[in-house]
Amino acid sequence: MSRSVMMSELSWDDYRRRLADEDAIVLVPVGAIEQHGYHLPLGTDWLIATYMARRAAEAVGGIVASPITYGSRSQIRTGGGPHQCGTTSLDSQTFIVLVKDVLKELARHGARKIAVIDAHFENRFLLDESCFQATRELQYLNIDDVKIFKMQYAEALSQETREKAYEGLVFPGRDFEHGGIFETAIMIYAHPDLVDLSKVPDEDLPKFPPYDVFPVNPDWVPKSGNLSSGKHATEKRGELMVEEIVDVIVKSLQTEFRQD
Ligand SMILES: [Zn+2]
Repeated sequence: MSRSVMMSELSWDDYRRRLADEDAIVLVPVGAIEQHGYHLPLGTDWLIATYMARRAAEAVGGIVASPITYGSRSQIRTGGGPHQCGTTSLDSQTFIVLVKDVLKELARHGARKIAVIDAHFENRFLLDESCFQATRELQYLNIDDVKIFKMQYAEALSQETREKAYEGLVFPGRDFEHGGIFETAIMIYAHPDLVDLSKVPDEDLPKFPPYDVFPVNPDWVPKSGNLSSGKHATEKRGELMVEEIVDVIVKSLQTEFRQD
């Protein structure tokens, strides 16, 4: 029997047994296909979500479901906006239903402990809706013993560790961390082969007005699409943040899904 933690690498029968015999936690990574500047790949968000989910699954004996790679619309003031080439977003209603359908299918085949690990800020409230609607509809089907855990992985980082990881730097605030130190350092640590440090932009922080306009005004966002610079990101800073985040995810799963 394969012990891979990746659902896609398991046969249906191995997957079935892991659910039936071990009541395995099924982790669902959720991200986006979104520009992250010149130095990070379009898949940054779903790659990070999947990395975190895999590390947590290895620690708790869980299974990582196929990731939700497309995400909710990138917004100018949090993700650089929808105008950059390659930022391929779903309409909110599509996203809510897509995630809900996946959650319900996992439950229909026996998953009772489901953990959604999200790495794209704009997914946040839509995921709440997907989780809520999935549990409500499962109850209509008399499946009332499913618990869904949902976490934005960035929330697992403590202020103390962030201060250590940003030593000598100014933290620009979470809203400006799109393609900045946080994601760049995590990618250097988790996927070094996908980061091109020779292309890290060093632009001024954008000054956003306290409102939005539609259609969006691309001039609000620096040319690269990054909202702050990842110039001083290093593997060490990434390691500090990743290891704490993985640890918090694992402990949170153990708290919410006590395994006997
Ligand atoms: Zn991102």
